[in-house]
Amino acid sequence: MVSNPNDTPLRLPNTKLFINGKWVDPVVPKTLVTINPATEKVICEVSEGSSKDVDIAVAAAREAFENGPWNKMTAQQRGKLLFKLADLIEQNKEWLATLETTDNGKPYSMALDFDVAQSADTIRYFASMTDKIQGKLIQGSEQKLTVYTRHEAVGVAGCITPWNFPFLLLCWKIGPALAAGCTVVAKQSEITPLSALALCHLVEEAGFPAGVFNLVTGYGHTVGDAIARHPDIDKISFTGSTRVGRLIMEASGKSNLKKVTLELGGKSPNIIFDDADLDQSVMGSIFGVYINSGQCCAAGSRLFVQEGIYDKFVEKFTEAAKALKVGDPFTGVTLGPLASKEHFDRVMNYLAIGRKEGVKVSLGGERLSNVGYYVQPTILHEVNDDMCVAKEEIFGPVACIFKFKTVEEVIKRANDTQYGLAAGIFTTNLNTAHRVEKKLRAGTVWINDYGYVNSLIPFGGYKQSGFGKDLSEYAIQEYCSVKSVIINHGQAL
Ligand code: NAD
Repeated sequence: MVSNPNDTPLRLPNTKLFINGKWVDPVVPKTLVTINPATEKVICEVSEGSSKDVDIAVAAAREAFENGPWNKMTAQQRGKLLFKLADLIEQNKEWLATLETTDNGKPYSMALDFDVAQSADTIRYFASMTDKIQGKLIQGSEQKLTVYTRHEAVGVAGCITPWNFPFLLLCWKIGPALAAGCTVVAKQSEITPLSALALCHLVEEAGFPAGVFNLVTGYGHTVGDAIARHPDIDKISFTGSTRVGRLIMEASGKSNLKKVTLELGGKSPNIIFDDADLDQSVMGSIFGVYINSGQCCAAGSRLFVQEGIYDKFVEKFTEAAKALKVGDPFTGVTLGPLASKEHFDRVMNYLAIGRKEGVKVSLGGERLSNVGYYVQPTILHEVNDDMCVAKEEIFGPVACIFKFKTVEEVIKRANDTQYGLAAGIFTTNLNTAHRVEKKLRAGTVWINDYGYVNSLIPFGGYKQSGFGKDLSEYAIQEYCSVKSVIINHGQAL
């Protein structure tokens, strides 16, 4: 058992699979362990599902979609259930945040005030959208015709999510899926299954009909793969690495061509121009690269700083990075440990590669403490654009700083990446901001800010950062099929 300030000992959710409104054991009885990255101790075991459990969950979701009470509800009744779920998330926010911090290592204040608060907000936003999903009357065809479109729920949605914002990203998916009227088979990352299991309790308490939301915990190559290949799943919404995104696309192509949304990795540029407000750009850039210990798909990890402001910026940025508190995530720090041993090793390996490539480590670069997967906030200089650490997503608290001279040069270098998730621009010149923003090939561009997200604003990538959108009304369309209806009246009306 793990203890913490709010909940001693930790109150665990049910650790079975949640299928068809019931907690059930996997067909093949197996468990996986989940580990607290701050202590390296086992928190508990949870059920390890397999493709057999996915089959059962999909059958339940299909039945609920085709014939269950969900199918007969009005949009407003669906909305009412989602509003209830949002309220329950808020009422249980300390429990959810405690689970998230224990499982993932993120600071408790962040889990509470960002992850869980934004999750409630997301579900509430989509609750308010259920009755605003509208087709169109198409005018202008032949006089004898009446033509309209109907936006229909696509069917059973498979939702596969990563470990960096486990609860929030699951809510980003189930919000629009349920608002559209889909049913869901979800799989949370095996590294952080606890908050998703807690969500099942809240789904139960809110009163969603059986089979509408199902969760199969387990590994990616088994449960995730079975979801991606399943012929009776109509849509996959995936957030995770570009490598697995490709596998999901392939699986869809080789099975039933299910509709796919992919939110993948990034290596986002953050550009600081000479005329930027120094304090604002430093604080925005610190947030952009180090928040969540750098385990953010949109992290602004390639910092391009113009030569006139370079020395001042680097000095202040280094001071601010040095001042970040790293430690036990329940003790008011800014950075907790990385989420898993495997990921910690990956980040340390990138730092070793960087050193071999000849980068200068001007801050950090080492493990902090013998217990827990802590990495010091790190700054790398003298990085060439074609080095591995400049090109690949490190997904840790590591900033690469580059110097640039001209607008044209920085646009070219910023776009010189396989990714296109996000970008930042710091300048006080509106013309520069617009000119550069238009040229950046990225799904989100922050100007004089870095990292702001909100339910109203679509989020998703360009290039190999994926396609499709989470959040906003755009996300709902990802879970809808558009039907065109043409009525021939035989004569002009
Ligand atoms: P991952 O791709 O390893 O795993 C993501 C999910 O996919 C997990 O649930 C995993 O179990 C599952 N999975 C693994 N193999 C699978 C397979 N063969 N078939 C189906 N599912 C499989 O990613 P991760 O390490 O959990 O998360 C980090 C990555 O996620 C980073 O690349 C990061 O940039 C990306 N990410 C992107 C966004 C975004 O919105 N674009 C947000 C957060 C994280």
